[in-house]
Amino acid sequence: MGILSILELMEETKNTVLSRGHNVKNWLVLGNNCYALECADCKKTVMIKENPLPNEIKVGGEAVAVNCVKPVKEKKLRKK
Ligand SMILES: [Zn+2]
Repeated sequence: MGILSILELMEETKNTVLSRGHNVKNWLVLGNNCYALECADCKKTVMIKENPLPNEIKVGGEAVAVNCVKPVKEKKLRKK
């Protein structure tokens, strides 16, 4: 697995996440060749592992599987 293919995978994954309506910008580096995106709106994430174990998957997370649900702004702020 070369550096080019992980970059391609990251771009492809980000495009998929964006196409689901998620509000993502920059990849977070989690270490161990692990990268993550978090949606600023619904907080769903997607993670990429460059060198997954045989029982792990390369790309995983809710953000690639489900569409973004934008947070509903409450009109009334609950105050005590
Ligand atoms: Zn989202």
